[in-house]
Amino acid sequence: MGLYVEIMCDERKNWPGTPEYAGKIEHRCWSNRNDSAQGYSVAQARKEAKKQGWKIIGRYACCPGCLKNLPGEGASE
Ligand SMILES: [Zn+2]
Repeated sequence: MGLYVEIMCDERKNWPGTPEYAGKIEHRCWSNRNDSAQGYSVAQARKEAKKQGWKIIGRYACCPGCLKNLPGEGASE
């Protein structure tokens, strides 16, 4: 059995409710895709996540999929 640490996305965003994303089968969020960054230690997992383009701030993590502001969302914060 392999012991490893996974970085899970804190955002877990879905695609915007606009027609252009209606047919999306793939999850937007990497964690929902089971594609979380992994490592054999927390430090290694965080390093790997950053390499993949994740935003890591303290205990907060956001995957590249959720990091992007897509048309039809954002600007409301
Ligand atoms: Zn995400």
